[in-house]
Amino acid sequence: MQERIKIVIVGGGTAGWMTAAALSHVVTDRVCDVTLVESESIGTVGVGEATIPAIKEFNDKLGIIEPDMMQKTGATFKLGIEFEGWKVPGETYMHPFGAYGKSLQGMDFHQYWLKVRQQGSAQPLEHYSYSIQAARHGRFAFPASDASAIASTYSYAYHFDAGLYANYLKEMSVAKGVQRIEGRVAQVLGKDAGEGIDTIVLESGQQITADYFIDCSGFRSLLLGQQLGVGFESWAHWLQCDRAVTAPSAPMQNLPPYTRSMAKVAGWQWRIPLQHRTGNGYVYSSQYLSDDEAVHSLYADMPSAPVTDAALLRFEAGRRKVNWKANCIAVGLSGGFLEPLESTSIYLIQVSIQQLLKLFPGKVPSPALTDEFNRRINLEYERIRDFLILHYAANERRGMPFWDNCRTMEIPDSLTEKIELYSSRGYIDQYKYGLFSPASWLAVLMGQVGQASTYERVCDNHPVARLTDKVESISSSIESSVMGLGDHTEFVNDYCKSTLSERAHG
Ligand code: FAD
Repeated sequence: MQERIKIVIVGGGTAGWMTAAALSHVVTDRVCDVTLVESESIGTVGVGEATIPAIKEFNDKLGIIEPDMMQKTGATFKLGIEFEGWKVPGETYMHPFGAYGKSLQGMDFHQYWLKVRQQGSAQPLEHYSYSIQAARHGRFAFPASDASAIASTYSYAYHFDAGLYANYLKEMSVAKGVQRIEGRVAQVLGKDAGEGIDTIVLESGQQITADYFIDCSGFRSLLLGQQLGVGFESWAHWLQCDRAVTAPSAPMQNLPPYTRSMAKVAGWQWRIPLQHRTGNGYVYSSQYLSDDEAVHSLYADMPSAPVTDAALLRFEAGRRKVNWKANCIAVGLSGGFLEPLESTSIYLIQVSIQQLLKLFPGKVPSPALTDEFNRRINLEYERIRDFLILHYAANERRGMPFWDNCRTMEIPDSLTEKIELYSSRGYIDQYKYGLFSPASWLAVLMGQVGQASTYERVCDNHPVARLTDKVESISSSIESSVMGLGDHTEFVNDYCKSTLSERAHG
């Protein structure tokens, strides 16, 4: 039997409580003691409403009952993100959670679709995405479990109130034995010998010693950044938005099953439908827009009047050089931040927790495991970074200084390579670790860059008439299936009211 490990989590935002919930679920108190310290007087960042499908996997592993969680967090379903005016004002495209069409004898759908499209007989790519069609019609149902059905080709995430979600996980964690301490960390004591943290000291004078410290203290990065001196690698030259103003408005009567992202003069505005309110926020670059102008512009594009004053948040894109040093691991904003354009922050929390659980050493840190953790997390950040930059760099919003600057900036080589491979032959790599899948890249490459110049040669082995029949049959089966789905708003209301154990979706 190995020795019990003592873990202290500093911070009780979404990151802190997701970590506590996962640890308390996966490892019993025979393996470790978990204590979480949070300070109500400091509070949390207080934003975060959109997720990606990976969150369902996290919740399922924790045994969370979906309709219960949705009811308690005001959640709605999310099938993707609509980008309005990102390439040019007036044009719209969607990033769906799911595939386009179906592959055929080893050919990706978009490859043979391109061949048919070049002959002039295929519809725009969006017509072949189940999730886009369901989203555009405001409909929802769970994906089919039969993998051969067209209705199995998508997945979903949630819009929810991240503060309520953290509370939900707090209750679960405390019930499973996590000790919660209310208090402000006033001092951090390093180890006498070697690197790392020995003890945290609260304002009350209480001292807490542990084997590992998980830094969930938010942008402050109290332990990893401030105490252990791990530097921040800024990506602000690529991702230039550094502020957001946010304000909720009344809930919409018809809840769309997708997030809206509207490109604006110096950034973009989100609209997120929750059951009890609508989330709105304008993410912008302070070099090109004042805070007052941003608030004014935010209010002008909300579906109804704000119900509270606007809140202002400042941030910088980038990440800590490493997220794990000695016996301290950063999870959440303490480890880095990438703007919420593709709803990836909660995902990054989740992935840090998953890797931590996989690579957790015994009582003493192992450099090999620490290095592997840092390698994987850095890769996750870099891949998301490139995906976000693509939205900005490949714009045609000419004559607007912010957008002109984004279009002409130098971009990472890894992204240039990706765009070139796609543009010349529609090629999109499927990598082992990290976001995003080829279908996601395709959505944004198609939306921002446009159609690839030609398709893979293997498509020429098939007569165009056969490929045309195939794409037509896919679009008609999507259309007839989507028309048979129920209204998303009604679905959410019924599901959340349902008898929990009966209706939980597996
Ligand atoms: P915080 O919420 O800041 O929590 C920090 C915790 O540390 C708090 O409990 C605080 O009290 C505690 N603490 C700090 N110092 C001390 C101390 N000295 N002593 C004791 N306790 C201390 N993510 C998404 O996935 N989707 C979105 O749509 C999304 N939208 C966003 C929009 C904006 C504008 C921003 C800025 C972020 C958004 N995010 C989004 C990110 C998301 O909000 C965060 O990733 C998430 O809330 C996790 O935050 P956190 O727990 O790391 O930090």
